[in-house]
Amino acid sequence: MASGLVLVVLADRWLDRHDTPDVSDLQGADARKALMIVGVMTIHSFAEGVGVGVSYGGGEDLGMFITAAIAVHNIPEGLAIALVLVPRGVPVWQAAGWAIFSSLPQPLMAVPAYLFVTAFEPFLPIGLGLAAGAMIWMVFAELLPDANRHLTATNVGTVVVLSFMAMFAFQLAIAH
Ligand SMILES: [Zn+2]
Repeated sequence: MASGLVLVVLADRWLDRHDTPDVSDLQGADARKALMIVGVMTIHSFAEGVGVGVSYGGGEDLGMFITAAIAVHNIPEGLAIALVLVPRGVPVWQAAGWAIFSSLPQPLMAVPAYLFVTAFEPFLPIGLGLAAGAMIWMVFAELLPDANRHLTATNVGTVVVLSFMAMFAFQLAIAH
């Protein structure tokens, strides 16, 4: 998690000092935000792909469980990308393209990780920790400030609690 934190903070600082390249039609602060969210989403997908591949080494049941969990969690992640890009003027089809792009590392990493489980397994806790650290940072630094601009604090709090409930309910549902 510390490595994820260091990575996003360094990326953030680097973007502070350099001109952000345009992303689709976005420039300046909007392009910077788009770059951060698509970047974090894409990089953390590598760890998730390794997770899928390695989980099949623990048997088909575990593999199906982890793959289903990763597949479903890609839906809100894709939505998060679209919710940052579309209101800033990126066409829907391009936002969909970025959402798909951000998860491409999953199938690309899953196959080698499955073929070489023993080689990849030691990296899994590090990779997932990095993913967790970077994602938590992004929720609080990028997504919640956006939400607070558009919704009341009461509604943001309510949606966060309901989302946690839905996530745990889903975990229980696919675990059985
Ligand atoms: Zn993820």
